[in-house]
Amino acid sequence: MSQDFIPAAKPIIGAQERAAVDAVMASGMLAQGAEVAAFEREFSQVLLDGRPSVAVNSGTSGLHLGLLACGVGAGDEVIVPSFTFAATGNAVALTGATPVFADIELDYYALDLAHVESMITEKTKGIMPVHLYGHPFAADAFAALAAKHGIDLYEDAAQAHGAALNGQMVGTFGKFGMFSLYPTKNMTSGEGGMVSTSDATVERNLRLLRNQGMDKQYENEIVGFNNRMTDLHAAIGRVQLTKIMDWTRQRQDNAAFLNANLDGVQTPKVADGARHVYHQYTIRVPQGRDQMHARLRSEFNIGSGVYYPVPNHRLPSFNRKQELPNTEIAAQEVLSLPVHPSLTPNDLERIVTAVNTIAKAGA
Ligand SMILES: *Cc1c(COP(=O)(O)O)cnc(C)c1O
Repeated sequence: MSQDFIPAAKPIIGAQERAAVDAVMASGMLAQGAEVAAFEREFSQVLLDGRPSVAVNSGTSGLHLGLLACGVGAGDEVIVPSFTFAATGNAVALTGATPVFADIELDYYALDLAHVESMITEKTKGIMPVHLYGHPFAADAFAALAAKHGIDLYEDAAQAHGAALNGQMVGTFGKFGMFSLYPTKNMTSGEGGMVSTSDATVERNLRLLRNQGMDKQYENEIVGFNNRMTDLHAAIGRVQLTKIMDWTRQRQDNAAFLNANLDGVQTPKVADGARHVYHQYTIRVPQGRDQMHARLRSEFNIGSGVYYPVPNHRLPSFNRKQELPNTEIAAQEVLSLPVHPSLTPNDLERIVTAVNTIAKAGA
């Protein structure tokens, strides 16, 4: 194949990140310390309109500790989508609570509000929708629904750094919000997660839970984990934070080009008032999605991704007997094309030509 491979995702790690890690190495102070504290402050300033945030060692830890910090545990139910990465439901299950899977709508692939309301019981402690692909879910409507029923809203914002709804940043709507810093996300710290909250009790619980239940050393107040972020990871994250807004604009420009030039497939929708940060650029291919995915790779040397092929309620780890029709449709028809900031104009042209050619042939 003559043309270079275009990967579906490409973490950008440069000289500044390497220098920042090297400086921490040279300091000899590697574990959670001043870099982590600075990363938290800067993350709050850049992405959360100043709302406090707490760094942990992964996004999954962030969800897990966020839920525990809000008092979620055995006997509780938390309503989550099935059409998401398994970490969303896993985090609920790991608290001892039961993840209850609700269906999605097919415009933005977010939880369907009416279906969620129909699944609220006296055991429901909260709702945890996902800002999937970087598009904000209707956080204002979900906050109102949660308030109406006296339950909490939690935000899985793993894929949505910088996304906003009516000018309000995601991660500031719920009792907590979680951002993943895994390498394929819009920004990375290597591994890591950031949990945002404006509730002082939840924030304190998070800080205790990530550190063996200690505020002061050897004065363990509660039973906790070691889910701390290292200063090495925080140093990477701090550099990435200076670039995330430019990278996001690049993603949005790439998406605009694809929107304008793709033909014969359904391009992603954006809700009124939504700022989509295009963690994924996800099209719908009602017929022949798997063939398009395979042909992009074999004939055009272009990577693409299916997020997610198996609805979580049907995974062996959950194995729920229930019908979620829109979830099944999405799992069969979605295909995410490269949209990352390192794409060149030529890469974008190649993606358009490839998709349009396959779509025209009837996939
Ligand atoms: C990536 C992701 C997570 C988990 O984050 P990690 O940092 O990989 O642990 C949770 N939820 C969603 C929707 C994700 O995409």
